[in-house]
Amino acid sequence: MKSSMYNLFVPIDESEYVLYNFLNDSALIVDEDMKLCIEKGELNSSISNQSVKETLLNCGVIVHDDINERKLYLYRYNIEKYAPSYSLFIVLTTFACNLSCPYCYEGSGEILNSSMDEQTLLKVIDFIKKTTHEDGTREIAIKLYGGEPLLCLDSCYAISKELSKWGDENNIKVNIVLQTNGTLLNENAVRLLTPYLAAVEVTLDGPPESHNKSRCYKNGDGSYEDILRNISLLAGSKTSILLRLNVENSDGLGLLLDNLDKNGLKSWPNLSFYTAHISYYDLCEFFTNDELCLKDINTVLEIRPSLLRVIYEKGWQSKYHMYNMRKQKLVSCNNEKRGRYVVDPLGDIYKCVFTAGDKAHRVGVIKDGGVEWNSAYYDILTRNPLDMEGCADCVYLPNCGGGCASRAFLNKESFNASYCGPIKRIMSKRILLYLKEIYPEKFSRLVI
Ligand code: SF4
Ligand code: SF4
Repeated sequence: MKSSMYNLFVPIDESEYVLYNFLNDSALIVDEDMKLCIEKGELNSSISNQSVKETLLNCGVIVHDDINERKLYLYRYNIEKYAPSYSLFIVLTTFACNLSCPYCYEGSGEILNSSMDEQTLLKVIDFIKKTTHEDGTREIAIKLYGGEPLLCLDSCYAISKELSKWGDENNIKVNIVLQTNGTLLNENAVRLLTPYLAAVEVTLDGPPESHNKSRCYKNGDGSYEDILRNISLLAGSKTSILLRLNVENSDGLGLLLDNLDKNGLKSWPNLSFYTAHISYYDLCEFFTNDELCLKDINTVLEIRPSLLRVIYEKGWQSKYHMYNMRKQKLVSCNNEKRGRYVVDPLGDIYKCVFTAGDKAHRVGVIKDGGVEWNSAYYDILTRNPLDMEGCADCVYLPNCGGGCASRAFLNKESFNASYCGPIKRIMSKRILLYLKEIYPEKFSRLVI
């Protein structure tokens, strides 16, 4: 027997630790003596109790001598990366937008503003069909995205109608989601699109007053009332309404939920929501400034318990999609996987939506005869964390996957490089917060 290379000890008081195993996603509480035994690998001589040994083995904390944990990781990584259960196409019908949100990473449609022309649209539809067959997936998700996609309602309609028909004919499940700011969702758009849409996703930036300060039209007018009026056209329909609620704290969330309740949204059977946090920094900082990123993650973790409390107190829990803090990340990001594509209005293909329009990150171009993939595509698809500096021996690997490839490219000029970001500084806190959330009595006195 030997100790796993993916054990992390997180102190909870002077004498006890949470022993978290990243490869098995398991957690135990151990004392100082057990910690020393496991760290020193003195397993046969020091752990005589057979049932303790079995527990450690089941949790992956100790492993048989012949097990190569790196290979085990790589095997699971490969399955997750190369065998997706569905293909995802994020289609930006336009870069233009009718709002002027101060934090917009796309510059509110004022830096890039092109829209998809008819010829490109046909090529994109063809690309989606062919690529789905090549990926061998029987299910696809299409996200209509922008800018504001409804500025190009005709394109949204053509994509939705044609691919839904093609899905039916080919026995491929097609889920189409419209990600819109909600201001252009009028009766005509609802009539044309809802026969095809699985969901509409709309963002609210806190209660009306704060929302109207940030999600405003080009002339400065707020959009809250328009959005609520427009999404009411979908109330009770078979299209789901997913609200992204950007909130700064639990007070803001409480006020927002009260307002939604007052407007009747709590009784809409097809409405659900998740919470998020707004980052007021630009795309360059988002990609390169770890300190800002760390600050954001800390805020999200710190306000989470109070947000949950408000959601339960106000009776919204059945509509809440809770972010799963426990989720393993064998592959650093969904975008790195096979079967994930972002297509911009020019027919250029990217892997990450945050890089769409920046040709340095382009991985392919849709041409008349098909797609021309470039070396960046193959670099990302063949990225192997075990070949990257630091990752092969890193305890965090099964929960990090080598970090964001786009950030690695920007900071180290290579997609095949590691990018730690703040993970090493945040993971212990995240583990403890998670455990406190699911075992509140056991960890009630734990101050994080
Ligand atoms: S920035 Fe990196 S981690 Fe974030 S979505 Fe893009 S590729 Fe994924
Ligand atoms: S990117 Fe950094 S934190 Fe992530 S596995 Fe590699 S060395 Fe570890």
